[in-house]
Amino acid sequence: MGEPRRIVLKMSGEALASSASDETIDAVVVERFAREIAEARAADPDLQLAVMVGGGNLWRGTTGAGAGMDRATSDAMGMLGTVINALALQDALEHQAQPTRVLTAVHMAEVAEPYIRRRAIRHLEKDRVVIFAAGMGNPFFTTDTSAALRAAEIEAHLLLKGTHGGVDGVYSADPKIDPSATRYETISFMEVIAKDLRVMDLTAITFCRDNHLPILVFDLMPPGNLRRALSGEQIGTLVR
Ligand code: UDP
Repeated sequence: MGEPRRIVLKMSGEALASSASDETIDAVVVERFAREIAEARAADPDLQLAVMVGGGNLWRGTTGAGAGMDRATSDAMGMLGTVINALALQDALEHQAQPTRVLTAVHMAEVAEPYIRRRAIRHLEKDRVVIFAAGMGNPFFTTDTSAALRAAEIEAHLLLKGTHGGVDGVYSADPKIDPSATRYETISFMEVIAKDLRVMDLTAITFCRDNHLPILVFDLMPPGNLRRALSGEQIGTLVR
């Protein structure tokens, strides 16, 4: 075995839903992601993968806060939503014979292990896929920022940001509005920030910049793309 290639994948909650299903989680989509993860791991035994799942398909803290709820309470609801998604993904991965551990930042020992940094690393070394749930456990943050934080903590080499809105990387302008917009193959953090190209939330981007953590932005939804991104194929836009 060679040097481990440690990756944190940020997967939006909305990527787990689909228009083909009335449910908040489409089992067919989740199964496809799990299969692609298992395929990428089978092809490269040095790939160590941790996934930070979002919860936007179930609840977002700002939704409740916008309607007058207490923000911290609303964010707690959002964090709990990510745990539901994490369990769905774990189940699908284990159907692919891929051992998986869910580590939650909000402790709920009956359903998942608590997040402990050294334990997360140990699981990765033992070829388990780690799923981070409940973000970082603090209100007022997103799972984008949580993914960046965990990636830095476990000394990941790359943060994969899978998008689900039909945009396959970082563009010079919004490609849905401006047809002359072009996709960058690589772009610097400074340029992303200066041009306000919102690839992740700003807190996450500045954190990655400060901690020298490259981000690969790619479209998660076309079949095969997740496997390609995990395998290191040229895809999307590298922010570094
Ligand atoms: N959240 C939080 N703290 C965290 C991570 C998430 O409070 O560390 C809450 C927040 O309310 C957020 C929700 O969980 O809106 C779901 O996460 P996110 O919006 O990042 O999910 P995604 O958009 O990626 O599906």
